[in-house]
Amino acid sequence: MPRIDLHLHTTYSDGSHSPDEVIQFAHEAGVTALAITDHDTVEGLPEAMAAGERLGIEIISGTELSSRYEGRETHILGYFFDWQDATFEARLTELRESREQRNPRVVEKLNQLGLDISYEEVKAKAGAGSIGRPHIAAVLVDKGYVTSTKDAFDRYLADGAPAYVERESPDTREAITWIREAGGVPVLAHPHWTKRKGPELVEMCSTLKEAGLMGIEVFYSTHTKRQTSEYLELARKLNLLMTGGSDFHGTAKPGIYVGRGKGDLKVTDKLLESLRTASRV
Ligand code: AMP
Ligand code: ZN
Ligand code: FE
Ligand code: FE
Repeated sequence: MPRIDLHLHTTYSDGSHSPDEVIQFAHEAGVTALAITDHDTVEGLPEAMAAGERLGIEIISGTELSSRYEGRETHILGYFFDWQDATFEARLTELRESREQRNPRVVEKLNQLGLDISYEEVKAKAGAGSIGRPHIAAVLVDKGYVTSTKDAFDRYLADGAPAYVERESPDTREAITWIREAGGVPVLAHPHWTKRKGPELVEMCSTLKEAGLMGIEVFYSTHTKRQTSEYLELARKLNLLMTGGSDFHGTAKPGIYVGRGKGDLKVTDKLLESLRTASRV
C-alpha cells in the first residue's frame, strides 16, 4: 500500500528545507502524494507542484493555520482548497502580519532579559517565509544562549515562559470557516496539543464539527499507540475524516523523517480519496 504524508513544513515557514528538497526526500521515502502545510501560507505551493510533477508525486494544496480555542493555541490543517482564492490569500496575509506584530516584541522581551539578539537576525533566519518562534529559537541556539530549539521554548518562548507574547489569532471556528469557504477540508492537527483527552476532547471536536471541522489528524510522528487508537475511535464516533503526517521540519525538529515520522509512521493513500471527495475543489 503506497504511503502519503499530509503534514510537512518547508523554508516558507519554519522548516529547514525548501519544498524542492522536501519532495526529493518524499520521493526517496516512496511517498506518492503529499501536502506542504506551512504555517499561515501557501507560498511554497508553486515550487512544490513543479517538483511533484518532475518526480511523479501528487501535491495537494495545504496549510496549517494558527488559531485559538478557549485560550489555547490550536492548529487547523487545510487540504484540497483553492489555493489561489483571493479572499483566502488575504486572510493568510493578515495572519502573517499578526506574526510581524508579535515577533519584535518577543525579541524586546529577550533583550530585557539580557540576551543580545536583534529582529534583523531573526528575519535573516526566516528568509522569505512566514516568521515564527522557531526562527527566534534558531538565533538563540546560534548565539549559544540555549542548547536546542526545545531548550529555547522551555526557557523563553513557550506559553507561560518569560519571553512569551500572545499573538492575535482567529478563533478556531473562524479558521475552519475560512478553509471551508475556499472549498477545502479543515482538520484538527495533532489533537494531543489541545491538552484534552477523553470526554473533553470529544466535546471540543463536536463543537468544532458544528463549526465545519471535517477531519482529525489521527496518524502523527509522536503519537503513542494509545493516542492513535483514541483519535481513531473519536473519528469513527463523530464521523470525522482521518488524516496523518510527519510534521517534518528538518533540523528544527530532529529525528523526524518525511513519510516515516520517527521511523514507524505509515499513512496509507487510502485516506486520500475521502478527503478529495469531501472538498469542493
Ligand atoms: P509560532 O508559529 O511562532 O507560534 O511558533 C509555533 C511553532 O513552534 C510550532 O508550530 C512548533 O513547530 C514550534 N514549537 C512550539 N512549541 C514548541 C516547543 N515546546 N518546543 C519546540 N518547538 C515548539
Ligand atoms: Zn512549524
Ligand atoms: Fe502544528
Ligand atoms: Fe506543523
